[in-house]
Amino acid sequence: MIVVKVGGSEGIDYDAVCADVADLWKAGRPLVLVHGGSGETNRVAEALGHPPRFVTSPSGYTSRFTDRATLEIFEMVYCGKMNKGIVERLQRLGVNAVGLSGLDGRVFEGRHKDSVRAVEDGKVKILRGDHTGTVERVNTALVELLLGNGYLPVLTPPAASYEGVAINVDGDRAAAALAGALRAEALLLLSNVPGLLRAFPDETSLIPDIPAANVEDYVEFAQGRMKKKVLGAAEAVAGGVGRVVFGDARARRPVTDALPRRGTVVSSPTTGASATPASGSSA
Ligand code: ADP
Repeated sequence: MIVVKVGGSEGIDYDAVCADVADLWKAGRPLVLVHGGSGETNRVAEALGHPPRFVTSPSGYTSRFTDRATLEIFEMVYCGKMNKGIVERLQRLGVNAVGLSGLDGRVFEGRHKDSVRAVEDGKVKILRGDHTGTVERVNTALVELLLGNGYLPVLTPPAASYEGVAINVDGDRAAAALAGALRAEALLLLSNVPGLLRAFPDETSLIPDIPAANVEDYVEFAQGRMKKKVLGAAEAVAGGVGRVVFGDARARRPVTDALPRRGTVVSSPTTGASATPASGSSA
């Protein structure tokens, strides 16, 4: 089993990702696709006159403030345009894909954080009405039901809170939790860079391997959201995923390239590639 997460930033070639996924699926490889949509959400939010609002926490992390109107725009883009665009591409390629959000069947479940501490005009303020959270539980029953009947699941945020409220969650962390719950052999995080770069944006400075135990030594090279991605990858490996590969979604065969370790590979000596065939648990 592999979990493929395709990001939402500029430059990603969804046609190539879907063609590659379709070939692997038809060759008999079980997989689940997870996707984002941040770039398109920002564009649609601007067009609808409700531009994205990013807030900075007192500890310096930046996040999207998701009020109800933002959540609705987020759903239009992630569950609508992006999800159905991917499902349509796969259907056209002869793959019976089913698109779901984490709300459907509560596939992704977590705690709702209603308020956020933000620094504005030099003061710490508490902003209420935030619809964000973190995936704490993955309910795999629906995903397994689909896989067992020949459907390829295509999943996207939002998640369901324990009270049944839609919450905006990080797609990489959701994919990592899913990969752990499905005991995936690999989690591929495809974005618009070749992997973690030592001297971003110099693409020749690719870091090929990160031992999960020493991930802190590598976080310093990442900026912005990439920091969370690297930490999340180490968590996934600790949670039992064989390996996490940061691969290039702009390539002609993005999944086939990343699978045998092209990109930045996060693994541990006990769960790395050498241990995977002997474990007999990979699909
Ligand atoms: P996605 O939405 O595609 O998952 P993100 O925008 O969340 O992707 O994260 C990928 C981005 O991280 C890259 O487009 C790049 O601009 C940025 N980034 C920051 N630091 C680095 C680094 N050291 N190496 C590679 N990418 C980096």
